[in-house]
Amino acid sequence: MIRPAFIGMDIGGTNLRMGLVDEAGTILFRFRQKTDIHEGRAAFYEKLAEGIGILKEHAEQAGFRIVAVGAGVPGLVANDGHIHVSVNLPAIDSINLRHDLERISGLPATVANDVNATAYGEKSFGAGREFDSFLMVTLGTGVGGGLILNGRLWTGIDGVAGEFGHVTVEPQGTSCPCGNRGCLEQYASATAIASAAREAMMTGRYVPADGSAIPLTTQDLARLAREGDGAAATFFAEAGRYLGMATASLANVLNLEALIVGGGVAASFDLIRSSIEREVRARAFPIPAQRLVVVRGALGDDGGLLGSAALARDEFDI
Ligand SMILES: [Zn+2]
Repeated sequence: MIRPAFIGMDIGGTNLRMGLVDEAGTILFRFRQKTDIHEGRAAFYEKLAEGIGILKEHAEQAGFRIVAVGAGVPGLVANDGHIHVSVNLPAIDSINLRHDLERISGLPATVANDVNATAYGEKSFGAGREFDSFLMVTLGTGVGGGLILNGRLWTGIDGVAGEFGHVTVEPQGTSCPCGNRGCLEQYASATAIASAAREAMMTGRYVPADGSAIPLTTQDLARLAREGDGAAATFFAEAGRYLGMATASLANVLNLEALIVGGGVAASFDLIRSSIEREVRARAFPIPAQRLVVVRGALGDDGGLLGSAALARDEFDI
């Protein structure tokens, strides 16, 4: 019997992950390579075509029929697959990636923002399975968001909804590349946590317990916090406080069931969870505050790949 399968792609600024995924979310075959977007669009498309060819061969050998392709990309992606803007992937700015993927693969394709795809991955196969409505937030270089409402991805009228990282949390705060000031991303990303610690070290307000010197990464800081460096833990608590502040507003507006935390900082979930929860309870109405649970994503780095495959499955499966 020939079973259906889907190609999932997580196209990042650095890494290109591709995989063959079955209906239940099992990754049957996968590989990862450098995106090398600086080599230009033609070289990038050639890389996609080669990857799709490998996955097609594998599917055939294993008795699967590929139904469709799904891809997650960083940036603002319209509902029809047009890339409004992708800072990390300038070579695909202003093109319709959905059309190009369909041409390259000969298969129906769907394209989503990478964090939206990750949210859908958690909904389909991960920590979001038990919830109908939640916000996925990824804390990494930046802060990404993806909103699931009543079991469906909410992309907004133009496709660009869910940009939780650009909610204002400090009216006169740090300027953000998006043009605004005081965006959550400037206070709660891995980058922001590490740079707050480095700044405190440079002014002598923070001296790591083990005598570490600059540069200090978020991972170093998490290790120090777990080893009992109370001051190191405050940098995570501060990020959690800002995250909780923004989440409280969202809880009041949408009465969500959960906030699912992913991205690099999710490895330090134990260090931010309680400050998020405390802030939500302090600011939101009691009913939405008590309803909302804060959990860690279950899929890790596979969220984008699995989510884009799930989007392809749910859009095109018969
Ligand atoms: Zn911003």
